[in-house]
Amino acid sequence: MHDGIFDFYFCDKCRAYVLDEKKGDAKRGILPNTAVQKLSDNWKCPICGGSSNELRPVTMLDHIMKSEILKPSLSGTRST
Ligand SMILES: [Zn+2]
Repeated sequence: MHDGIFDFYFCDKCRAYVLDEKKGDAKRGILPNTAVQKLSDNWKCPICGGSSNELRPVTMLDHIMKSEILKPSLSGTRST
């Protein structure tokens, strides 16, 4: 945990919604500097309706995107 450092989170369900913890989301009733972990359980992604459990740090999205771009075309060898 890094206290006091706010980050960007994206919705892993639609990968379209991004929440800036520092700014919050006034339309959704999220105050500025609200940690994603403190979002209410009834929070829903405004785009896909996913829960706050779907939110991932953007640093992870960056990682996902990089891995998708750099992934060699070895389709079929992935065990997931
Ligand atoms: Zn979403």
